[in-house]
Amino acid sequence: MNADLHCHSIVSDGWLTPAELVRRAAANGVTMLALTDHDEVGGLDEALATAAECGITLVPGVEISVSFHEETVHVVGLGIDHRHSELVAGLAQVRRGRSERAARIGLALDRVGIHGALEGARRYARNPELVGRAHFARFIVETGLMPDVATVFRYYLARGKPGFVEHQWARLEEAVSWIRAAGGVAVIAHPGRYRLSSARMDELFDRFAACGGEAVEVVSGSHDEAETGRFAHLARKRGLLASRASDFHGEQESAVDLGRCAPLPPDLVPVWSRLE
Ligand code: AMP
Ligand code: MN
Ligand code: MN
Ligand code: MN
Repeated sequence: MNADLHCHSIVSDGWLTPAELVRRAAANGVTMLALTDHDEVGGLDEALATAAECGITLVPGVEISVSFHEETVHVVGLGIDHRHSELVAGLAQVRRGRSERAARIGLALDRVGIHGALEGARRYARNPELVGRAHFARFIVETGLMPDVATVFRYYLARGKPGFVEHQWARLEEAVSWIRAAGGVAVIAHPGRYRLSSARMDELFDRFAACGGEAVEVVSGSHDEAETGRFAHLARKRGLLASRASDFHGEQESAVDLGRCAPLPPDLVPVWSRLE
């Protein structure tokens, strides 16, 4: 079993089409792949069809943006019915907020001398409803101002930087309830990335479990070994299922390729035990 349960296509901020992603995963030896575009399920039909051709399992997924105190937290839904009306309506609402936020990011960048950024970002966003910071970052790299996307985030797009705007995403309980209504398993994505005090992290996991969240990404493309250890411990302590996820966006922007994460610590209960 080689499960990779979190990645992105051009339907959000990845570089590959859903079909290209699935073929790359199959070539890398992935046996179970979840496509989890940000706030969008529009790539899943193509991914499912290609996975059937390649003989691998495609788990329908999504990564929902959530506001938790001052931080943005991502909740992945796995094994969803991506046509479920409640989920579809919830995601449409989040995408409307995203479009309005993109306009504000464009204005904020204009004020610091980066002109035409909204139009520029839109050129990188193959889905007009899904303009995100990654698309702005690619445009800023294109202008020659910054050498790469990671540097753009550091100077312009991270919280507190001139191109960062506050935004109200979904509530945690809402996101989990949409996923559960659609028959899916809710997973806290890459918890090592959140800048939360340990009391806030406890609150996040308490509230997540209280509303029916079941799993956490222990192995993630954005975790180092210490973070993997920390969240493995937390999964054991709280009896959560464990996920393994590259969060692959494309060769040029991801350190970890599809299916190439470390294995899960063997004593954890893998989330895919709930997906077969
Ligand atoms: P958004 O949902 O529009 O706020 O964009 C979040 C996305 O931006 C993440 O899923 C990543 O693709 C990308 N991102 C966030 N932080 C960084 C970073 N420090 N370096 C590179 N990409 C980042
Ligand atoms: Mn992304
Ligand atoms: Mn994420
Ligand atoms: Mn992601």
